[in-house]
Amino acid sequence: HLTDLLALLYRAVSGGSGGGASDGGASSLLRVGEGLVDLIGNTPLIRIRSLSEETGCEILAKAEFLNPGGSVKDRVALQVIQEAVAEGRLRPGGLVTEGTVGSTGVSLAMCAAAFGCRAFIAMPDDAAIEKAQMLEALGAEVQRLRPVSITHPDHFVNVARRRAAAAEDGNSLFADQFETPANFRAHLKTGEEILRQTGGRLHAFVSGAGTGGTIAGVSAALKQRRPEVQVFLVDPPGSSLYNKVTRGVMYTREEAEGKRLRHPFDTITEGIGINRLTANFSRAKVDGAFKGSDREAVEMAQYLLRNEGLFVGSSAAMNCVGAVKVARALGSGHTIVTVLCDGGHRHLSKFHSPAYLAESGLTPEAAGRGLGFVE
Ligand code: PMP
Repeated sequence: HLTDLLALLYRAVSGGSGGGASDGGASSLLRVGEGLVDLIGNTPLIRIRSLSEETGCEILAKAEFLNPGGSVKDRVALQVIQEAVAEGRLRPGGLVTEGTVGSTGVSLAMCAAAFGCRAFIAMPDDAAIEKAQMLEALGAEVQRLRPVSITHPDHFVNVARRRAAAAEDGNSLFADQFETPANFRAHLKTGEEILRQTGGRLHAFVSGAGTGGTIAGVSAALKQRRPEVQVFLVDPPGSSLYNKVTRGVMYTREEAEGKRLRHPFDTITEGIGINRLTANFSRAKVDGAFKGSDREAVEMAQYLLRNEGLFVGSSAAMNCVGAVKVARALGSGHTIVTVLCDGGHRHLSKFHSPAYLAESGLTPEAAGRGLGFVE
């Protein structure tokens, strides 16, 4: 068709890839995008003035909350589906499945629809009911399951994997965000964007890890072009990744429970922290790690609201705690990049609920005392 030909020509000329514009962002604001998928990625990098002034470093953050699905996970959902479609493993009318408590479900439901596919999301039944409702509103089929160990066949991840395998027409895809290299590849692009946006002038990158896709992809992209850039992990309470990075020790969930380490979800920061080594985290090139506390994350979220008007989620706040710790460790004059994974809207019932924070003994109290709350 002539329109298809024109679209192809247009993409060739504009440098667009049809999945996250690849022209660096500036001109993509001026052109007509190809629907939802062209809105994913190429997020702005913003300078956080207050953090920068107070630390003497340049603290820059990728505004991932501006993705259409509201989080960094849009990149992963798009990449996973795009690769499967390109390789003929998924066709319109197919089913995309995932086991997830977090933002990945929302991103997958949206991206599946954009490719003419359906989504099936399995989640534990103790996850906030709004999450299931939101996914259903986005057209996904949702199954809520009693929380069990990852080794149990009824764990939500295993249910999602089996559901994809059971599709009789073979037109199905288990997204598998923890293990799939597509997650890593999605974040190679995030890293390349950071290189373009900073002109390669950065000293460090810091973030938390859930699947590990972000820190793995970004670290690989940065170190390929700028091997001297240092990459740091910031790890919440209950997670084993800090030990993995600093001492080479990683416990499985079962070992962690046996050793009475805290439960991986024993933190207010949703989406980061884990007690098993995922294929994606194994791909990360990490130079050092910092621990972050729930209190630091809560205080940071308030700090960012007060000083910047930035309303961010818990992992984004923890990443900024990490940026301050890296700034103090490296000393002033360094440029440090981090990620604002999602906005605060999804966190109104916990992280941004004064009642919930009071119940958890986490009522913020550091207002007006600068960054003194970062230990
Ligand atoms: N923040 C949020 C809100 C997330 O949903 C996730 C993904 N679980 C992360 C941070 C961590 O990113 P990654 O999975 O790439 O390590």
